[in-house]
Amino acid sequence: MTGVLAVQGDFIEHIKMLEGLGEKAFEIRSEADLDKSFDRLVLPGGESTVQTRLIRDLGLFDKLKSKISGGMPTLATCAGLILLAKKTENSDSVCFGTLPVTVKRNAYGRQLGSFRALGDFKGVGQVPMEFIRAPYITAVSDGVSVMSVTDGNITAVKYKNQLAMAFHPELLCDTKIFEYFLNM
Ligand code: GLN
Repeated sequence: MTGVLAVQGDFIEHIKMLEGLGEKAFEIRSEADLDKSFDRLVLPGGESTVQTRLIRDLGLFDKLKSKISGGMPTLATCAGLILLAKKTENSDSVCFGTLPVTVKRNAYGRQLGSFRALGDFKGVGQVPMEFIRAPYITAVSDGVSVMSVTDGNITAVKYKNQLAMAFHPELLCDTKIFEYFLNM
């Protein structure tokens, strides 16, 4: 059972993708949802500043952080990557800070920064990648595996239980990254 953070952003696309692969999924909207039994977590794309505020205002922060730190397999896309990152270059705000990388928000520019690419994802092969006002990763600490590099920039990483990427596999038809996550 996968809990999908559903305070803002494209959580529905994640749920559809997971259910298409036979995985049960539910929306995490309130503190009570975190008492349900689940063994995976998804942090969707959207707007990381809004998500960070809502996670705190809705009282989700402590329980979510302890699940991530406690080793729950976590998939994060785009804004989700920013929520996990220990440091964001162009912002003081840190949400969970459980992923020892530095990200740059809106790294491709705000308006024209949306594009598609085809790239290699370590252990998965070639996948289509949808970037929407995406960040990229400018520094990684020891122990972080680089999973994909796009145009010379790190766009996906894995660190222990956390699989995080700057692009949106949930918006395209290719299921390989989700299958990889469900096997973590
Ligand atoms: N630019 C957004 C942010 O900084 C992320 C965009 C996305 O999730 N597609 O939060």
